[in-house]
Amino acid sequence: MYKPTIAVVGRPNVGKSTLFNRIIGERKAIVEDSPGVTRDRLYAPGDWLNYEFNVIDTGGIEIKDEPFQEQIKMQAEIAILEADVIIMITNGREGVTEDDLFVARILQKSKKPVVLAVNKIDNFEMRNDIYEFYQLGIGDPFPVSGSHGLGLGDVLDEAVEHFKNLETEEEENDSVRVSLIGRPNVGKSSLVNAILGEERVIVSDIAGTTRDAIDTDYFYNDEHYTLVDTAGMRKRGKVYEATEKYSVLRATRAIERSDVVLVVINGEEGIIEQDKRIAGLAHEAGRAVVIVVNKWDAVEKDEKTMKKFEDKVRQEFQFLDYAPITFVSALKKTRMTTLFPLISLVNESHKKRVQSSTLNEVLVDSVSMNPTPTDNGGRRLSIYYGTQVSTAPPTFVLFVNDVELMHFSYRRYLQNQLRKAFDFTGTPIHILSRKRN
Ligand code: GDP
Ligand code: GDP
Repeated sequence: MYKPTIAVVGRPNVGKSTLFNRIIGERKAIVEDSPGVTRDRLYAPGDWLNYEFNVIDTGGIEIKDEPFQEQIKMQAEIAILEADVIIMITNGREGVTEDDLFVARILQKSKKPVVLAVNKIDNFEMRNDIYEFYQLGIGDPFPVSGSHGLGLGDVLDEAVEHFKNLETEEEENDSVRVSLIGRPNVGKSSLVNAILGEERVIVSDIAGTTRDAIDTDYFYNDEHYTLVDTAGMRKRGKVYEATEKYSVLRATRAIERSDVVLVVINGEEGIIEQDKRIAGLAHEAGRAVVIVVNKWDAVEKDEKTMKKFEDKVRQEFQFLDYAPITFVSALKKTRMTTLFPLISLVNESHKKRVQSSTLNEVLVDSVSMNPTPTDNGGRRLSIYYGTQVSTAPPTFVLFVNDVELMHFSYRRYLQNQLRKAFDFTGTPIHILSRKRN
């Protein structure tokens, strides 16, 4: 099911962060009394009535050293790009300002539905202060109080009302969803173009549709794949992507919507911290992963270069030790044929289901080769039985005498044994233990 996105926009200090926290139901982001505070989180799941959605606090995305108005403009544009519904927040105590008008004008030009919230209306007497906000020309103002938690229900009612007009059928086929993530300029768009062929790169004008994520179908060996959010790869957000928070947000969104993630790194420049952070998101989300080293044409090579680079990747991305690595050039279109066999392989691993009988044989053999650990008192871990409880990623539950006795290192050992016995290339696997009753 498609999960819609709501973005919160508005000039600084109107209460975006406060309302964002109210919507997501946690008090995680830091709220301070000065504009431009640091925020922990700018993207989080929320729900209202029977609707689930994601919320973006655009106030958390800033380009350093840009003038104030540029910042608000960028935030509003990001909201237009990323969201299905936009909540514009203003400050009822200050009334309409130039900056509010500026934001409203940008939003007006987009076709995205906007809900106007007038914040800091902390009590009933202040309700008359909202009428002047009609002059923004973006619809009825709703009084809210972020700090008191008032009025938010009406705003969310209005926001989710717009979800009904979204097209949702597109994600309901059973194709394998593939996304490309990586920091700016590693060659994600070039890879998408190289995969799809240049003639197909022209994306139809997306104005007029409420959905901005354009996905593209691709067939390989009669298998149906969907490249997720190719429009985003190709043309939008280039400027914004340079801001790390936005690029992390984009990656998070792409990962969420996909089965297989291609973590793209720049072979010419090597691996930096931001690559690790982005790759870590794919791992944490439990997706199937292929590591794609692009721009391999630009690297001076001898017969050892690939091996050396691979060692480097393994060292930097230890948490992705299960992910296969391939080296390509999107520019020269070399080794591009290595991609889909790997995508297909990791997808199979990700969705693999192993029979309980076989699983338990492997467990028994593993325990006989390397006996289970004991605690200080000499009590030994007993594993009675194991079963796979889910796929994507494969998740196993082991019934044991005492979960405390299952040490990290032994779990790791069992994971490796399962990997040896079954091909889990490209997918994380989870082992949980439960006390047998
Ligand atoms: P942002 O910069 O738009 O994200 O604004 P913040 O959420 O950081 O809030 C700015 C300031 O306004 C903080 O001091 C908040 O405590 C305060 N604030 C937020 N919502 C309300 C409200 O409903 N009423 C009042 N009186 N203050 C609020
Ligand atoms: P994105 O920001 O990750 O989407 O990266 P782009 O696809 O826009 O590529 C960034 C730059 O790298 C562009 O100038 C591309 O021409 C260049 N580029 C992309 N792929 C390759 C490649 O395989 N080899 C070389 N030498 N340059 C590449």
